[in-house]
Amino acid sequence: MIIKPKVRGFICTNAHPVGCEASVAEQIDYVRQQGELGDGPKNVLIIGSSTGYGLASRITAAFGYGANTLGVCFEKAPTERKTGTAGWYNTAAFHRFANEQGLYADTINGDAFSNELKAETIERIKAHMGKVDLVIYSLASPRRTEPGSGITYKSTLKPVGQAYTTKTYDTDKDKVHDITLEPASDEEIRDTIKVMGGEDWELWLDALADAGVLAQGCKTTAYTYIGKALTWPIYGQATIGKAKEDLDRAAAAIIGKHADLLVEAHVSSLKALVTQASSAIPVMPLYISLIYKVMKEEGTHEGCIEQIKGLFSQCLYGTTPTLDEANRFRMDGKETNDETQAKIKALWDQVTQENFHQLSDYSGYHHEFLKLFGFDIDGVDYDADVDPQVSW
Ligand code: NAD
Repeated sequence: MIIKPKVRGFICTNAHPVGCEASVAEQIDYVRQQGELGDGPKNVLIIGSSTGYGLASRITAAFGYGANTLGVCFEKAPTERKTGTAGWYNTAAFHRFANEQGLYADTINGDAFSNELKAETIERIKAHMGKVDLVIYSLASPRRTEPGSGITYKSTLKPVGQAYTTKTYDTDKDKVHDITLEPASDEEIRDTIKVMGGEDWELWLDALADAGVLAQGCKTTAYTYIGKALTWPIYGQATIGKAKEDLDRAAAAIIGKHADLLVEAHVSSLKALVTQASSAIPVMPLYISLIYKVMKEEGTHEGCIEQIKGLFSQCLYGTTPTLDEANRFRMDGKETNDETQAKIKALWDQVTQENFHQLSDYSGYHHEFLKLFGFDIDGVDYDADVDPQVSW
């Protein structure tokens, strides 16, 4: 099959197996080039392991610290006529590279919110790892079916309190225009907290502790985005921000409930960058195109792997963590400092349909977007006939 990108709105509906493998290999190379990282995790569970920040966490744990990894993700397998999802191919590539290195790597594909998947994960930990000493929670999902009640909650991306009008960039139509986002109802806020808040993170830690598969002193972290004034109305102070605030509550609850095991739980705040999750958020493609421009000029631009390698070596396993007043690890300082934000704001105020491509780094954004699906990567022959049926 000859595979070319099929972009529909903010998503690409296919993926390239060779390109995904190249992108995983690039992240592994980056981690290997960092040299000896010192003591770190040995047995790691990554919930949301196949793309974005979760995949970078898995790569850092395995290739930076030699850890065994068990991943959990929700991806589609390829068929003869249809490619698999990027996360499927990333996982297959990760397994191949980890096996070559002699590292244990296993992945469970299914619904992380379900009791069944939690039980299966525990069985695999017991059989192959004994106990885990790091649990990464990196899910990004538009819906969650609550175990027990069977109710499916949907998350929304809406402001809280009042409507908000702002600029956005429509990646499909190549158009900068104003959008007005209507405020969320109380029910929509509650439902978004159900999906993207800390309840499921807590349920995971409870299940792992009850089954006796959490090591003494186990660390756990869940990822958040806090941002600054430009994104607060649509992110930090919006429905998703309310859900992310609930992670702080969950971190404290996890520490309290599992004090006998001395579990260390932190929320980690990371920078905004192009992932399948962030490209679905209104305003984010415009904001990220502008921060790419400013941060590349400043020489501070980072991708998922640079952020996560820093999180591990400075915060999770380092002695120089940047912690905020809520005990969160902060890896977003290069984006959220006042000077950088002022430059982004100045560009934001000037952006129009006419000057968007000059003022922003949309070409950088678009390249990163295609790369998420294994496209637009140097050295990959996109005219070659490839077999989409890759397994792991
Ligand atoms: P992503 O879309 O790249 O990854 C999401 C992962 O979750 C994938 O592995 C996917 O398979 C998995 N997943 C989704 N639903 C699942 C389910 N029901 N069961 C099992 N697995 C499921 O997203 P990302 O951008 O890497 O986001 C990961 C976390 O990082 C999120 O909490 C997000 O809010 C946070 N974060 C993202 C950014 C950003 O700019 N992208 C910035 C800061 C924090």
